[in-house]
Amino acid sequence: MRIARFVHPGSASAPAGVAWGTVEGPAGAEVDGLTVAAIAGHPFGALEFTGDRWALSDVRLLSPFLPSKVVAIGRNYAAHNAEMGNDAPTAPLIFLKPSTSVIGDGDSIRLPPSTAHVDFEGELAVVIGTPARNVTAQDALRHVFGYAAANDVTARDQQREDGQFTRAKGHDSFCPFGPWVETVLDPRDLRLVTRVNGEVKQDARTSQLIHDVATQIAFMSAVMTLLPGDLILTGTPAGVGPIVAGDTVSVEIEGIGTLTNPVVAA
Ligand code: MG
Repeated sequence: MRIARFVHPGSASAPAGVAWGTVEGPAGAEVDGLTVAAIAGHPFGALEFTGDRWALSDVRLLSPFLPSKVVAIGRNYAAHNAEMGNDAPTAPLIFLKPSTSVIGDGDSIRLPPSTAHVDFEGELAVVIGTPARNVTAQDALRHVFGYAAANDVTARDQQREDGQFTRAKGHDSFCPFGPWVETVLDPRDLRLVTRVNGEVKQDARTSQLIHDVATQIAFMSAVMTLLPGDLILTGTPAGVGPIVAGDTVSVEIEGIGTLTNPVVAA
């Protein structure tokens, strides 16, 4: 099931506003032919449909959730480590992106004037569904609500200058996430394709992750409690590169859909 959050135009029974809902229609279709069916309240737990339904083209998608935190992992594909000249860390290398970096499908990535080199990083994103603290890898996937596409946008010059990641990866709009969350999916071998202006830049499979999704959740949950709605970015494959104002970057993940964001100067 695909869970989206969106701004809708209202109906006979509901004023215009924001709702969660399910996306219905053929897998692989992006907008044409898809509809959203609104639910009452929050999508965790049993869904209660309101009966309101709109064409996807008549709503504006938002980031599917507003996470309390975004936990990301670096250097988690061998070919990406090679292109960056980095060794693979022995333990998972994790870092945080602020909740304020999160934007949704169609929202603009805003390039701040303090950086001259911003890279895209297409990644599989994991949304936590139930609190996870000290979980084992065996139990980890039970805490997952679903999966989405994400872009771990990075000011590469600031990352190199600072020697840590907070500024480089923390700018507002540097965590596009969506277009929705697919709740029924096996994350272990999904194709990930990132395009800039339609040109393929990254083409890999999640089976190439050094630390798989379950291992990441177990490792992170030994450090901090993962809360419902929290977002995990699982690492980017080879092929990262710069984006500039005027570009459009999309991250397509098999079984989920395509996250597309224009790039503008802030
Ligand atoms: Mg990354």
